Order: sequence, then C-alpha cells, then structure tokens
Amino acid sequence: MGKVFQIAIDGPSGAGKSTIAKRLASELSIDYIDTGAMYRAVAYKMTREGISIDEVDKIKTMLESTHIDFSQGETILDGEIISDKIRTPEISELASAVSALPIVREKLVKLQREMGQRKSVVMDGRDIGTNVFPDAEYKIFLTASVKERARRRWKQLKEMGKDIDISQVEADIIKRDHNDSTRKINPLKKAEDAVELDSTTLSIEEVTDKILDIINLH
Ligand code: C5P
Repeated sequence: MGKVFQIAIDGPSGAGKSTIAKRLASELSIDYIDTGAMYRAVAYKMTREGISIDEVDKIKTMLESTHIDFSQGETILDGEIISDKIRTPEISELASAVSALPIVREKLVKLQREMGQRKSVVMDGRDIGTNVFPDAEYKIFLTASVKERARRRWKQLKEMGKDIDISQVEADIIKRDHNDSTRKINPLKKAEDAVELDSTTLSIEEVTDKILDIINLH
C-alpha cells in the first residue's frame, strides 16, 4: 500500500471545488470528502430539531449524538441520506453561520482529520490547506469571479427545480464570501504554499487537467 496523502482544495462558494474534487478522486481512485456538506448536515439537523444559532449548549449536546459519514457519493447523517436536502439557500446560509461556532468547527475538523489520515483523500472546503491538513502534499486554491460563481450556483439550483433570481444568488454568494473570510476562526484564506487557479474561463476538464499536471510535477 502506498503512502497516504491529502489533496486540499479550498476556495469560495461556487468556484467549482466539489465538481473538480469528485473528478480528481475518481481519476486517482481515492475518496472524496466534502467538508461543506458536513457543516450543512449540522445546519440541517439544527433546523429539524428546532435549535437556533444562539443555543450553543443545545448544539453541543446535539453534536454529541451526531454521526456524519460519506458513502458512494452520498452524505449520511445519523444513518439517513441527506445529500439533496442540504442544498437549499436556507441551509447554505445557516451552514455559513454555524461554521463560525468554535464547538462546531472543533468537532468537524477532528472528524475530517480522522477521515483523511486513514486513507488518501481529496478534501474540499475553506480551511483544509490552512488548518485541517496544513501539511497536505497538494494544495489548490480555486477561485472564479463572483458573476461566474453566481451563474453556476443558479444553474445548479435551476436543475434542482428551484427558480431563484440570479441577482439573489449573487447577493447570497457575496454575503457568504464575507462571512467565510472574516470569521475569527479558520477563515477562508489561501494557504501560502497553495497553487491558485482561477476557473472563471476554464472548463471542468481544463481545471481537472491542470491540477493533475500540478500533482504529477511533484
Ligand atoms: O462548500 P459549501 O458551500 O457546501 O459550504 C457550506 C458552508 O460551510 C460554507 O459557506 C462555509 O461557511 C462552511 N465551511 C467551512 N469550512 C469548510 C467547509 C465549509 O466553514 N471547510
């Protein structure tokens, strides 16, 4: 068995991280860990249990009996597939808010480290290269213009049957970018040793190939 390694892909919402990370994982036959889905799962469970963002004690208790896992591309919360239920604008916004809570980050980062230490992974998120795996072998910081990111998210939502105004999607993205990059703990930031890639005018294949090139050069 070869050495375990991590590929960290960080960047703002809609930069194409999950699409690219999935492709890379499949090309390299390793696991893909979507850390954003983990924050979304926590937000989803809070909503279901009627817990609000300022009820930190309740969130703490809830987390003690919360199990998040991935299986065959699906996000599993306490044994239930929740992949589609966590892709709504409401859960996006709440996930961004709960991700600023130390208690939530502590629990999820610990889980993420365990997942990425057992076997090689492609992990995407906001703080993978800076905090979860600061010694990751490969670090990519994926960006794209706000307009392009809004267009991609809007298209995704439309395909899911949700007809939302594109200007609303853009406003949500700007708000989340701000929340994610200004929060006190582990904000969205490019790791000094990460390679920055702007995907605004690149296809999924082009970005995947560029990253595979970067990995092969090492
Ligand atoms: O990537 P995705 O949009 O699914 O992430 C949802 C939210 O989870 C983000 O807006 C961000 O606030 C949070 N997140 C985080 N750290 C990560 C991954 C996601 O704070 N590693």
